[in-house]
This record gives sequence, C-alpha cells and structure tokens, in this order.
Amino acid sequence: MPLKKVLVLGGGIAGVASAIAFRKKGFSVELVSDRDYLFIYPISIWIPFGKTSFSDVSLSLEALSRRHGFTVFIDRVLAIDAASRTVTYEKRGVTVTPEIVVIALGASKKQHKGIEHTVSICGKPEESLVIKERIEVLVARGKGRIAFGFGGNPEDPSSVRGGPAFELLFNLHHYLKHLGKREDYEITFFAPMKEPGARMGKKALSDLAALLEQSGIETRFGKKITRFENDGVVFEDESRLPSDFMMFIPAGSGNEAVVSSDLQVNSAGFIVIDDYCRIDGVPGWYAVGDAAALEGPSWKAKQGHIAELMADNAAFNASLEHLDRQGEMKGYREHLHILCVMDMGNGAGFVYTDGEREHYLSLPLIGHWLKKGWGSYYKLSKMGKIPRFPGL
Ligand SMILES: Cc1cc2nc3c(=O)[nH]c(=O)nc-3n(C[C@H](O)[C@H](O)[C@H](O)COP(=O)(O)OP(=O)(O)OC[C@H]3O[C@@H](n4cnc5c(N)ncnc54)[C@H](O)[C@@H]3O)c2cc1C
Repeated sequence: MPLKKVLVLGGGIAGVASAIAFRKKGFSVELVSDRDYLFIYPISIWIPFGKTSFSDVSLSLEALSRRHGFTVFIDRVLAIDAASRTVTYEKRGVTVTPEIVVIALGASKKQHKGIEHTVSICGKPEESLVIKERIEVLVARGKGRIAFGFGGNPEDPSSVRGGPAFELLFNLHHYLKHLGKREDYEITFFAPMKEPGARMGKKALSDLAALLEQSGIETRFGKKITRFENDGVVFEDESRLPSDFMMFIPAGSGNEAVVSSDLQVNSAGFIVIDDYCRIDGVPGWYAVGDAAALEGPSWKAKQGHIAELMADNAAFNASLEHLDRQGEMKGYREHLHILCVMDMGNGAGFVYTDGEREHYLSLPLIGHWLKKGWGSYYKLSKMGKIPRFPGL
C-alpha cells in the first residue's frame, strides 16, 4: 500500500523535526521551504563576533532529506486556503494539498516605524552577517554609540524574544574588552518593559541587572519605542537614545502567508491549535513551532525545544488518527517550560522555569562550551550520526 502523504511547510527547527518525526511514523513526506538550509538560530549569536561561521550554523535540507528519506522542494508559500485545501507557491502555482499538512512557517516580525534603521539577530539569517559588518566598521572607526534592545507584543507575549538580545549584548561587551577597546564605546540596552527578562525568574533578573551594571552598560527600560531614526531610538516621551548602530529584536507576529489565509489565528496572527497541535476546523492539518499560538501559563515562550516537542506530538497524534495506531494522544501544554543556556561571551546563564520551579545558575566558562556542545549535538543528531535524546 502506498504511504500516506504529508506536506510540511517550512524548513526551520519545527519543519525539519516534523519531517523526521512523520517519516519515523511511516508517512511519506514532502517539505517545502523558501531557503535550502535549516538555520540553527540558537547558535547564530556568535556569527557577529567571528566565533562561528554562517555555514556552521546551517544544515543543508538536501542532506537532511537524504538521511531521513523525505523530499524537499524550494519554493515560497504565497497563500494558504484551508477551505479548498490548496497552497499557492511562487514557482509551482496552486496545488491541492495531501490529506495531512503541517504548517511550520515560523513567525514574522512586528513592524515598528523606522525599523529599516535597525538590524536583528532574529531576522533573516543574512542579518547576522550585517551585524558582523556593522560591528567591524565601528571597531575600525575606534569609537561609537551602540544600542541593543528588544520589543514587546502585548497581544502575545510568548513571541517576545529577549534572551538573544542579552546574549548579543554581553558577547559584544566581551568582544570589545578582548580587543582592549571597551572604554571607547557607549553601550545601551533598551526595552519597553520595566523588567526585561522577568519571565526567566527573579534570580535571573537580579543577576542580569548586576551584570549590566558591572559591565558598564547603560539601560533604558520601561518606555515604549515610538520610532527608530537613522541615528537613534525615539521613545514615547520623545526622549532620544542617540546611536551609531542599533540591533533590535522586534517581537514575533503571524507569518504573512498565515495571516492572509482563512486559518483561524489569534490577535497576534498565530495559528489557533488544540493541545494536540491540530488546527481548529481543518481536519488533518497541524501547526507547530513559532507559527502556532501557544496556550498556557503567562510566562510561556516560543522556543526551539517546544517546537521539536510539538513536531513529535503532531506526528504521533497523526499516526493514531490517520494510520489507526493505538495509544493516547499527546498534548504539548503540560510540557511547557523555559529552558535556555544564555551565552554571555565568557560563560553562560542556565535558565529553567516551569511555573513551580525557577532556577538560574551562572556557569562561567563551562556554560559557553555547554551551548557550543549543544550546537554540535543538534547537527550530529539531526544528521543521524548520534542518537537523539527526546526533548533536546
Ligand atoms: C537568535 C535566536 C536565538 C535563540 N535561542 C534559543 C535558545 O537558546 N533555545 C531555544 O529553545 N530557542 C531559541 N530560539 C528560538 C528558536 O530558535 C525558535 O523557537 C525556532 O527556531 C522556531 O522554529 P520554527 O521552525 O518554528 O521557525 P523558523 O526557524 O523561523 O523556521 C521557519 C521556516 O519556514 C520557512 N518559511 C517562512 N516563510 C515561508 C514561506 N512563505 N514559504 C516557504 N518557506 C517559508 C523559513 O525559511 C524557515 O525555514 C532562538 C531564536 C533566535 C532567533
């Protein structure tokens, strides 16, 4: 009997995890992505400082597809129509989907006025190289004012991404220190929340505040950002933060192809799913990773390991519903937690929160190697060269 077909839209952490998980359950899988590589965002934070290369942070989708036996098609999704069960692509045009579809298109970024004056480590992968260039220009100039920050999204705080902003900030501090040039640069960290990073827990918050002070990094917290100009940030009270270079991470919002579709989305544009990652009202369709609206505690966050868990669950649940396998459906909500090794340039902070327990552990030096080790583990395990530990 021919294998049941699954279409996976998106080739990021969630899409690739889905393709692998559905293959393992015995489905035939086609993955469509607008780029031919998986970009491993968590380890991209070192690109701007030359501690890793773009290619080291990328995994070829072609190589992954050969290893796991799925097919890859490089194309951009322009439109999704659940009613007619069709997807419109840039190259392929309109096609009817198979019975099972997994949407893993990630998120877009919330738009701010003047955003073009900023660069983001969470934007398109190529932006990591632009940040590198801009830092090199500033270093060559010998002095400068640098502003790093991140934005909020009151409509869906789970899409706020502050961790990488802290990582880039402290990596920059140590990079300049290493060059013996730290005193020549004013560095300011800005965010609209009064306590950026609060969802990582009280201990993390107080340790980060102490670290900012020790590192001579100025802060501008608790003021909404009105706009960016080519030479600085303007806040709601019209105060300005002059800057020669702004790295800003806007919060996430719904992917354009999703927002313009007939899928049910929350007010921030993320796809409404049930606990089993099934898209409301469209039998056989699932959404996983950053594209999906997470339900659960107020501190929940869109993270890579949650994306992987959702992908595994979607494949398992689909095998019960579409291949008549036996078992109990698996939900993602009871597994929500924040887990992150936050690299600080000379070590890392280990963060774990699940609503009941809150841990923050400073790991000088070894923390950096832990995160590096995770990067190697991720690549090797995805390529099937070493076993994968569930949930990591
Ligand atoms: C800098 C950074 C550091 C991070 N650090 C951590 C960390 O330490 N720990 C952690 O757990 N999480 C971390 N995260 C979060 C984690 O990386 C994300 O949650 C994860 O990447 C989400 O995966 P995704 O596949 O849902 O989305 P994405 O990785 O955004 O993938 C989306 C995919 O869809 C494709 N796509 C998008 N639109 C289209 C279209 N129209 N047509 C075709 N293809 C399309 C893209 O090319 C991409 O392949 C970090 C994120 C960033 C940005």
